[in-house]
Amino acid sequence: MRATRFQHTIGRPCQVSGRGYWSGQPITLTFLPAKPHTGIVFVRTDLKECPSVPAVVDYRVDMPLRTRLAQGTAMVDMVEHVLATLLALQIDNVEIHCTNCEMPSLDGSSHAYALALASVGKRLQSTERAQFQIAEPLRIGNDHQWIMALPGNASELTIEYRLDYGAKSPIGQAVYSALVTEQTFLQDLAPARTFITIAEAEQLQQQGLARHVTPRDLLVFDQAGPIDNSLRFPDECARHKALDLLGDLALAGVDIRGKIVAFRSGHQLNGSLAQALKNAYAAQTRLRKAV
Ligand SMILES: [Zn+2]
Repeated sequence: MRATRFQHTIGRPCQVSGRGYWSGQPITLTFLPAKPHTGIVFVRTDLKECPSVPAVVDYRVDMPLRTRLAQGTAMVDMVEHVLATLLALQIDNVEIHCTNCEMPSLDGSSHAYALALASVGKRLQSTERAQFQIAEPLRIGNDHQWIMALPGNASELTIEYRLDYGAKSPIGQAVYSALVTEQTFLQDLAPARTFITIAEAEQLQQQGLARHVTPRDLLVFDQAGPIDNSLRFPDECARHKALDLLGDLALAGVDIRGKIVAFRSGHQLNGSLAQALKNAYAAQTRLRKAV
C-alpha cells in the first residue's frame, strides 16, 4: 500500500550564519516559510534581482567533495548539510535567502542547522507530499564504488553507508545504518562532522583554499587519528557520509521509501542515484495518469 503524508513548511523564520570552508566568506541564511509545492529554493539576495535555484538534481553541478547547485547567476555551494537536515525533519517547502554563495561550514556537521530548524517547529500544509516507493533494485557504480536502491517498507527510508578507504588509511573501515527519522537524525547523524586527511588538507591550502580552517573546525586525520580533535562517535566518518548521502537524496524532490546502500560513494554517485530515482518517480506518475 502506498503511504501518504502532508507537506510541511517551517513555523516561523530562522537564521544560521557562519563562513564557508572553501571560500572563507561570511554568509547568513534566512529560512522562510513557503507555500505547498514550492519545494526548497535558494535565493541569492546579495545578487542583482535576487536570482534563485531550486534544490532539485537537474540543477546539480559536479564538483569535488561537495554539492553545488546553479541556475543562471544563482549558484549555491556546499548545500548538502542543509538539505540533509530539511529531508530528515520533513520540511518540504522553504525559501532560503543567502547573502553569499557558500553555505556556512559551522563545525562541519548539520548540528546548528538542525537546532535552528527544529526550534521554529513545522507547520502542516493541506497538500500531499509526493512519495516514491522503490519497487525494484537499482544499482549504479562499479566494483570499487557503488550505490544501490532497494525495495523496503512503504513508509520508511533506511540508509546504510559502508566506508572503506583501505587498510592503510587512518580512517578505519565502518558500516553505519539507520532508519531515517527526525529523532535518529538529530541524535545520530546531525552531529557527525566532515573529515579529510592531512594530505588532502595540505593540498587544498596550497591551492589557496580553506586558508582559515584549522583541525578544530572539522576532522583532519593523520596516521594517529584526528589531529587536535576527538571523535563524537567511533564511526563518525561513516555517519557523516550517510548524512551527505541524505543531503544528495533530497535533490530527488520526493520522499524516497525503501533502502539505500552505499559503498564508498561520494556526491557524484549519490547525485546520479537521486537523478535515477527522480526519473523513476516521473515515469511511474506518467504511467498512473495513463491508466
Ligand atoms: Zn559533508
